Amino acid sequence: SQKNLLVKAKTTCSYCGVGCGIDVEVNKKGIIELEGTPDHPVNRGMLCSKGRSLNYVVQDQSDRLLYPQMRGSKHHPLERVRWDAAIDRAAAVFKTFIEKHGPNSVGFYISGQCLTEEYYLVNKLTKGYIGTNNIDTNSRLCMSSAVVGYTKTLGEDAVPIAYEDIELADCFLIAGANPAWCHPILFRRIEQHKEQNPDTKIVVIDPRVTDSCALADLHLQLTPGTDETLLHAIGRVLIENGNFDLKFIQSYTDGFEDYKEKVFKTTLEEAAAICDVPVDQIQLAAQYIGDAKGFLSLWTMGLNQSTQGVNNNLALINLNLITGHIGKPGSGPFSLTGQPNAMGGREVGGMASLLAAHRVQGNADHRKEVADFWGVESMPDQPGLTATQMFDALDSGEMKAIWIICTNPSVSMPNADLVDRALKKAKFVVVQDISSRSDTAKYADLLLPAAGWLEKEGTMTNSERRISYLPKVVSAPGEALSDNEILIRFARRMGYEGFNFHSIEEIYAEHCLLTKGTNIDISGLTYTRLKAAGTMQWPVPSVDHPGTPRLFEDKKFYTPSGKAQILPGGNKNDGDQLSEEYPLILTTGRIRDQWHTMTRTGKVNKLNKHIPKPFLEINPEDAKAKGIEEGMPVVVKNDRGEVRVNAQITEKIKKGVVFLPMHWGKILQNTFGRANNMTSKVFDPTSKQPGFKYSAVSVEKY
Ligand code: SF4
Repeated sequence: SQKNLLVKAKTTCSYCGVGCGIDVEVNKKGIIELEGTPDHPVNRGMLCSKGRSLNYVVQDQSDRLLYPQMRGSKHHPLERVRWDAAIDRAAAVFKTFIEKHGPNSVGFYISGQCLTEEYYLVNKLTKGYIGTNNIDTNSRLCMSSAVVGYTKTLGEDAVPIAYEDIELADCFLIAGANPAWCHPILFRRIEQHKEQNPDTKIVVIDPRVTDSCALADLHLQLTPGTDETLLHAIGRVLIENGNFDLKFIQSYTDGFEDYKEKVFKTTLEEAAAICDVPVDQIQLAAQYIGDAKGFLSLWTMGLNQSTQGVNNNLALINLNLITGHIGKPGSGPFSLTGQPNAMGGREVGGMASLLAAHRVQGNADHRKEVADFWGVESMPDQPGLTATQMFDALDSGEMKAIWIICTNPSVSMPNADLVDRALKKAKFVVVQDISSRSDTAKYADLLLPAAGWLEKEGTMTNSERRISYLPKVVSAPGEALSDNEILIRFARRMGYEGFNFHSIEEIYAEHCLLTKGTNIDISGLTYTRLKAAGTMQWPVPSVDHPGTPRLFEDKKFYTPSGKAQILPGGNKNDGDQLSEEYPLILTTGRIRDQWHTMTRTGKVNKLNKHIPKPFLEINPEDAKAKGIEEGMPVVVKNDRGEVRVNAQITEKIKKGVVFLPMHWGKILQNTFGRANNMTSKVFDPTSKQPGFKYSAVSVEKY
């Protein structure tokens, strides 16, 4: 009963970027119960299987890191130490490397799961005080191609839509995404909307028949790596049929003629052959879009994780721009963020190529603004090392020390064997995490226990720019500290001024002030206001501003000309090529009930039941050619590495393509399931996002 409750609080799910509201109750025995917040604007009481089981994750403390551990040298085991000793050692080592080899010899690799205040502190520490831009995050592996796509076309890394546009759209293009499994609550909203409005059209572009296809009116099962060609072909048909908005194009955009020239270079028949999608399906997709009053394009890793991820993004956003479907109800490009706070991280500029409040890292005036604000002499002018570059630099010895927070690169980075080697070769590795289940922890010279969800306070921003406040509800176990506290202790021990914060609210307030006057201005959203409102969408430039559900309703874009840019695409890198030795395309992805590298979801029995082991999806024709039968152990390999899992033979995967889930680490019950043994670190030339979705491999039975 209410009387027995020790704590009742409202918070936000810490898994995907949907940002569902959760009501938490902790009773006197310490049992945590939760349910979806009934009146929350995002989830309206719903939660998916992952969100529903978050209480078990917090309560099962068997894997938690409880005290700092340190090794005397590389050959010594980790031993328990006091916090003071741990922070002293970290500061001494970082100071030595910075003095001896310069600030670029150290770096921080953090996570889209960090809270905004934590991101802010690491960014300030690294760029403002250490003097390097070597801070990158696992968001580099996730949305960096979308960041560049938005910035190039709209002038700002700004998702223009609000979730309420779902109920106002009558055509959805879902490209390279499986929201039924990866963004389930948004998908439920799309399902409900279609149920009530059966004429709503849904087009899915994916090389696999996923659960999202169950709702689709049309599934374009393209060959991996051909997204840009397909999206351009759809654009061509829209133009040929007169289904474009000339008034919008002329008034509010630049670049249409160049785009038109580009898309008309490839005939529909040629595009159909390249993508292996029938011409009539391309025409039908264009017809659905052309007929729509509200058109939402949704995408995620299938487009982003490509050596031409930016071109894919441009090609998709162009469909909204040429049809004028942006800045109006039910319309717009809508990137589905993978992590709960990748957006917040981008807002504080917490990446090697960004600056605070979406300022431009390469702009000297912007650098000066931030330097003056922080009271430091200058900001480093060269971009820092991005995710994969950091591990290359550790491998080559150029970088000496890395501090890893809330992420598990040994499983999640491409070419994972190289990452393991780099972590072994690094002179000093700090791992700050909540769980001993992180595969990266074994490389730590210093292992720091962090507080997790419900155990610390802060804010996050979801996929629709909605900022939410997360209260501290329970104490962290053992000696674990919040990431903010650890970072502040380190910064002070380094002798840096500017970290004299007494509360999380003070960190947040400083971040808000730094956004003042920018396109993402949240100077009107104080902690007090946010706590009272629960959530609000940026920008919120004054204390009486109600927040901004939809951007660009005035058709003024953030580009220098004020017009959106329709761009035909630019540079790309060549990734893997198929060969006689490696004739199959490996693509990777998520499964419904696991999250990232399973450090949290992997300890929940009911989530493990859904799909308990890694597997390889293979088309019956490819399986037959190799004598592979259902369930048979197979080895998938290329020059970078191999995995051994059981085959799952299915028509759902295109012939010539195989699929591995990305969650599993190195060894599990005699299965070697780390998909990233074989993925390549070749990245998009602009976004530096690696092309996880296309690797050339062979598959044999063993
Ligand atoms: Fe959490 Fe995402 Fe599921 Fe919502 S949809 S409950 S945010 S994992």
